[in-house]
Amino acid sequence: MVHVREHASQHDSIADLPLVTESARITDVDAMDVDRRSEVESAVTRQLKPAGLESTYDPFNDPQTWDDLASELAADGYADVARNVTTLSKRYHRPKPMLTRVRFETDEDVDFVAGQYVGFQYSAIPRAYSLSGSPTQDDLEICVRRVPGGRLSPRICDDLSPGETVTIRGPYGELVLGDHSPRDKVFVATGTGVAPLKSMIDYVFETGRDVYRGKKRDIWLFLGADWDDDLPYRTEFRELDRTHENFHFVPCLVLESVLSEWDGETEFVQHSLLKHVDPSVVTAGLNTPWEGWLQKQPRSGIDARLDPATMEVYACGINAMVYGLVRVVESLGVPASRIEAEGFG
Ligand SMILES: Cc1cc2nc3c(=O)[nH]c(=O)nc-3n(C[C@H](O)[C@H](O)[C@H](O)COP(=O)(O)OP(=O)(O)OC[C@H]3O[C@@H](n4cnc5c(N)ncnc54)[C@H](O)[C@@H]3O)c2cc1C
Repeated sequence: MVHVREHASQHDSIADLPLVTESARITDVDAMDVDRRSEVESAVTRQLKPAGLESTYDPFNDPQTWDDLASELAADGYADVARNVTTLSKRYHRPKPMLTRVRFETDEDVDFVAGQYVGFQYSAIPRAYSLSGSPTQDDLEICVRRVPGGRLSPRICDDLSPGETVTIRGPYGELVLGDHSPRDKVFVATGTGVAPLKSMIDYVFETGRDVYRGKKRDIWLFLGADWDDDLPYRTEFRELDRTHENFHFVPCLVLESVLSEWDGETEFVQHSLLKHVDPSVVTAGLNTPWEGWLQKQPRSGIDARLDPATMEVYACGINAMVYGLVRVVESLGVPASRIEAEGFG
């Protein structure tokens, strides 16, 4: 059953929520990334062609062989190829899955506001995970990125299965939507930092908050990751982009072009955001190191442009991105009161 919250202010809603501890049953555990080792093998062969080494090497098992190959390439003056081979080696040998979505159900409803997180305890280890589904849905969902060597995330990726019981505590968190407003909403995330923003985006469209007094506002999502399949919920966001003219999904993939023919954005999310700002509204320039990004043409294929005077920003992800992004949008003149940001560490 869909339950649409009627509070004008999401912060007021939080004040009404009881803190609960619930035992929850896992209903689904799915890998979100894919095994791309055969693609890596083809990419390495492509990389080695200029050095004439493509038929000489069969480096696909031992990481040391890859390191030796990269060193040899660098010594022979193929520094770029050596770097790409090292990148592809990391991709080839990384644990799988790196990204897992987990759905669970509780006997009692866990009411939350889009953007909040819960304490999720499995095998007596509690960690914070953002709820990625809309509060209007019955199911609860999180998405977890494996932190190699971490205590809980590898166990969630490798061991957790449907039918098991976990303990949920919460909801917590103040990263929530502002009041329904006439502004465009700009969501910016890296990796699983998109989880709370996905909850907000789903909620925005389900409750018509993308429309203000009959006028559609633009809803943007800049989402950064290394590889395409490191983008959580990429299928859902691409579908939303396809079906809603006012939703603009901008994946920013730093490494993907080493592996495939990716021709979209490849820079950090905050730089990509600058490329999508309407240059005519920043006539005085930024007088910052980021000035040059305003002149660059985006490769996203999106014609819409951002106007800092009419946007509010929500950011979540690694601290370095979040701090960098806040500096960038403040330099564009977006007041602090219109920026909600949270770092995952
Ligand atoms: C409010 C909040 C919401 C969060 N939401 C999510 C979410 O939706 N999805 C998600 O995957 N994670 C999320 N996290 C991070 C999550 O709580 C855990 O920190 C993460 O899963 C690592 O736990 P672990 O037990 O595997 O690693 P730990 O055993 O806790 O840490 C092992 C080592 O890895 C480092 N480390 C911890 N976290 C990270 C990280 N994210 N990246 C790189 N190194 C790290 C630690 O400093 C430590 O050195 C959130 C954190 C906060 C504070």
